[in-house]
Amino acid sequence: MLPTKGYAAQNATSPLAPFSFSRRALGAHDVLIKIAYCGVCHSDIHQARDEWGGARFPMVPGHEIVGHITHVGEQVTQYKVGDTVGVGCFVDSCRECANCHEHEEQFCPKRAMTYNGVEVDGKTPTFGGYSNQIVTHERYVLRIPPNLDLAKTAPLLCAGITTYSPLRRNKITAGKRVGIVGLGGLGHMGVKLAAAMGADVTVFSTSPNKAEDAKRLGAHQFVVTRDPRLLAPLAGKFDFILDAVSAEHDLNVYLNLLNRGGTMTIVGVPTKPAAISAFSLITNRRSLSGSLIGGIKETQEMLDFCGSKNITSDIELIAIDQINEAYDRTIKSDVKYRFVIDMATL
Ligand code: NAP
Ligand code: ZN
Repeated sequence: MLPTKGYAAQNATSPLAPFSFSRRALGAHDVLIKIAYCGVCHSDIHQARDEWGGARFPMVPGHEIVGHITHVGEQVTQYKVGDTVGVGCFVDSCRECANCHEHEEQFCPKRAMTYNGVEVDGKTPTFGGYSNQIVTHERYVLRIPPNLDLAKTAPLLCAGITTYSPLRRNKITAGKRVGIVGLGGLGHMGVKLAAAMGADVTVFSTSPNKAEDAKRLGAHQFVVTRDPRLLAPLAGKFDFILDAVSAEHDLNVYLNLLNRGGTMTIVGVPTKPAAISAFSLITNRRSLSGSLIGGIKETQEMLDFCGSKNITSDIELIAIDQINEAYDRTIKSDVKYRFVIDMATL
């Protein structure tokens, strides 16, 4: 076993604090990664505070992991010591089911989430990236393009793939009118990626002070949603809307902005169910769908796309002992646009 240092929540109301635990010894197909940076996703907060139910404590959150390989198991073929790599939201899957065969491991019923989950054995708890090292089967490791700033790349492992995947599935290309709801960690990646795909991007935000940033990130329009009068003229104008909001809000407002056959995909996960009016869907024959991160193959495709277009996240780099303050600021939508932990401070 490998003694490991991290930060953990001991229960749903305790602040995160230093925690020592063990990683498994390196298996034949495993790599040992020294973690350099880990992004802070709003999902970390939902889970550390048990807002979705079923949380496992002690919990070491973190699924936007980047670092360098320090050891490789004897049968590892794709990576070598020194490689710059990442780990995202899951660290294993059954490798046999249709989801695994079709590169959609995120839907494998046995998939092991990076933290707040169990390994494929169904019992060994997993611990995430707010820690100095992680042991991962090489199949679930991603290669980081060498031209990208490493700290700014960490958020691509969740925020990047979670927005890239639905944009690709909905065939976003030049000229498509795309709306992004919520300019947070996911939303700001959605803006950058949709703009890079050539879309005409509108940000819908509750924060008027993010207007200039939205334009700098690549948005063509910025609409403050607190004033419903600003939304009325946009009814029926959008091909695709990505909803990346972390808290309860009215989905009908945005469904009504879709054109004929338009789709809205939800990636944000508020804690309470949303009410949908049938009229919001039957009008213009609209669709409402959801999306969960992406498979390993698509995550590598996203990283390579970001490498080729020089796309990274806008981050605020923090020391690990600032994590509780970072959670409070994230909840207040006060982060530009992703906190990333410098793991050298652990
Ligand atoms: P975040 O950085 O906190 O961003 C959320 C944004 O939502 C905020 O910046 C804010 O944008 C907006 N918002 C917050 N409270 C709001 C409210 N009461 N009403 C309307 N808008 C509000 O969070 P994130 O890390 O991007 O994650 C967003 C959500 O996606 C979370 O629920 C997270 O768990 C989920 N998630 C899902 C997946 C997936 O695979 N589906 C993956 C990762 C995360 P403005 O200031 O612009 O209004
Ligand atoms: Zn995440």
